[in-house]
Amino acid sequence: MICFFQRTIKREVEINGIGLHTGEKTKIKLIPAVENTGIVFIKDKVEIPAKVDFAKKFDFSTSLEKDGEVINTIEHLLSALYFTGIDNIYIEIEGSEIPILDGSSHQFIEYIKKAGIRGLKEEKIYAVLDREITVKDGDKYISGKPSEEVIFTYHAVYQNKIIGDRKFSYIPTERESFNTVSRARTYCFIEEVEYLKKLGLAKGGSLENAVVFDGDKVLNPEGLRYEDEPVRHKLLDLIGDLYLLGFPLWAEVYSYKGGHRLNAEFVRKLKEEKAFDLYYASEILDKNKLSENLMVR
Ligand code: ZN
Repeated sequence: MICFFQRTIKREVEINGIGLHTGEKTKIKLIPAVENTGIVFIKDKVEIPAKVDFAKKFDFSTSLEKDGEVINTIEHLLSALYFTGIDNIYIEIEGSEIPILDGSSHQFIEYIKKAGIRGLKEEKIYAVLDREITVKDGDKYISGKPSEEVIFTYHAVYQNKIIGDRKFSYIPTERESFNTVSRARTYCFIEEVEYLKKLGLAKGGSLENAVVFDGDKVLNPEGLRYEDEPVRHKLLDLIGDLYLLGFPLWAEVYSYKGGHRLNAEFVRKLKEEKAFDLYYASEILDKNKLSENLMVR
């Protein structure tokens, strides 16, 4: 969804769960914030803005770190905030990892809706890409180019028959177009599970919060939520990580087999090269001669 005005939530809401990687019980509280606050995590009184400058460690998830305080697995919550157009919020955390919930951003969106969404008085600010930017890692790459429309695409290539060679795009034009992506769960392969546990990861992982593949079989009794769920989840991860720019990105972005590390590198490069300009929502409509109907008020 593309919004005209900045947004926060109406009231506080608490979310309990377990961490996917740490396996520990964890609790977060979403707290309303005024215009231009941004998305700010608070842990033991340390405020950590959700910005790429604080992004560290990309072992199967994205973490933030500041003054010795670490918050793991932020990307699904960030994509839920992006999808619902929230740009100003405090997230207090007890524990070191955001709850995994069902492994997608769907339940975060439900909590945000439960808290209610409040439109603020100031217009939303977008980061409009002004040139082509590409980052590469072997055959993997992420490429962004200026565009009148926002389009994010993920292209996955796996030997696995279910995942295979597939693309999926998110074009945030309709009010709840995020439904095509937000319910896609994280996934892994059964042969990875031992390896992840050896690394001290995925301790909280189960069929409740991840799709598990055994070869070309899905072990979850309920099956997949979308036939190409893994590709859509990689897109969900990309969208969450892109929000580490600090502003919603206005561009066409294409990721070929990218992951958290490359996502963060892409966002970092946009900042380092100052490859975007900040525009108010009304300026974007004027500049691109777009209809007002494109944006939700
Ligand atoms: Zn993910």
